[in-house]
Amino acid sequence: MNSPIGMSVRTRFAPSPTGLLHVGGARTALFNWIYARKHAGVFVLRVEDTDHSRNTQEARQVILDGLHWLGLDWDEGPQKGGSFGPYYQSERNHIYEEYLSRLEKGGHLYEDHGAIRFRSPREKVILQDEICGRIEFDLTNPGTHPDITLRRPDGSWIFHFVNVVDDIEMKISHVIRGEDHLSNTPKHIELYKALGAEPPRFAHMPLILNRDGSKMSKRDEGAALGSYPEQGYAPEAVRNYLCLLGWSPKDNREMISISEVIALFELNQINRRNAAFDLAKCFWLNGQYLLQMDLARYTELAIPFLEKAGISWPSYESLEQVLAIVKPKLKLLRDLPEWVIPFFTEEFPYDKESVAKSLQGNDRGESGSARLEALSTAFAELPLWNASALETSLKETAIKLGVKTGELVHPARVAASGRSVGPGLYEMLEILGPERTLIRFAAGAIKAIA
Ligand code: GLU
Repeated sequence: MNSPIGMSVRTRFAPSPTGLLHVGGARTALFNWIYARKHAGVFVLRVEDTDHSRNTQEARQVILDGLHWLGLDWDEGPQKGGSFGPYYQSERNHIYEEYLSRLEKGGHLYEDHGAIRFRSPREKVILQDEICGRIEFDLTNPGTHPDITLRRPDGSWIFHFVNVVDDIEMKISHVIRGEDHLSNTPKHIELYKALGAEPPRFAHMPLILNRDGSKMSKRDEGAALGSYPEQGYAPEAVRNYLCLLGWSPKDNREMISISEVIALFELNQINRRNAAFDLAKCFWLNGQYLLQMDLARYTELAIPFLEKAGISWPSYESLEQVLAIVKPKLKLLRDLPEWVIPFFTEEFPYDKESVAKSLQGNDRGESGSARLEALSTAFAELPLWNASALETSLKETAIKLGVKTGELVHPARVAASGRSVGPGLYEMLEILGPERTLIRFAAGAIKAIA
């Protein structure tokens, strides 16, 4: 492993704005960011937007939003500035002109039908890749390796050229990118040499495939990073999942904090085999993160979902109290509004199926109604209204009526919240308090026989 000690680490994420940030791109950004953070280096964001047709403000924004959401702060780049800007390729024309004339002077270029091409020295190129190891590319045959174009007849630049120029100009020490660029790398090395520049270290990461081994397309579920926030994934969970795409802490742990990843991360330990994308695992991790997250962070993530659903709450404390009992069970924050709404308004909806099943039952509702009335009577007598007293009282009532606990739990839950899924019944009733609970039970008893 080439140690970066003594060399200042500068990595970069160089996305082309396509209108979406693919999970593969997000992982590339993440690994570059981790590597820079590990070595107290600099993480640069450079937007490769020479394709004018795709270069919209919206497409640029998708990238910035995605990186912000994942918490991948860049040290130089758009919105940040830096000594080697501008960081949009579309604004760097003058630099490319200058490099082109350098190559011209060195006799490396020729014109071909209006395009400018680079004359390959036709040699063998050796790449010592940090992940893939030593690879020898034989570029001696122009039939298999034609000279690359640097500039099109319309004056626009070709990726290979501007990518290399910018990596030189921005003093990039490590190019960490997808394996799909591996075959470009010998051509890039030729350009570095022709420009008299030392090539950076290269690390080509394995591709991310679907579980069936097919190539992941942008339409595959979970492929667009932008789809995660709206579903209620926690950014720390998705970031954790992305870390596992090609890398692992080697001790079977799946849940691992980002600071630990930074401490353990090594490029030469990245798996050389392609990574399989597994949305179910990401979903599972999200549930684990939500479960273990502290309540303040959970509340911070929850608030936008509740606001969007038009839910309001009397105080931050009352919101936290509700979220605390919802938190252990909920897997995606997207589902929060439905779970939370019965705590903050009397106008919550009753799920028809749940009413039919748990309140009305098969015996025309008389028993549903009678059970709620029996519960109301027992609860009304409680000297102390808390979850454990409610639980004891419900169980005693069940014995008295000669029914199973569940035969009281289900109608009580549906009467109190309109739904058959949700937080623990006793915790929920404790928060609702005696007044609201008993009113809802009375309304439920009527619904049962309606
Ligand atoms: N714009 C290129 C891409 O998105 C960058 C490749 C690289 O990292 O060098 O694929």
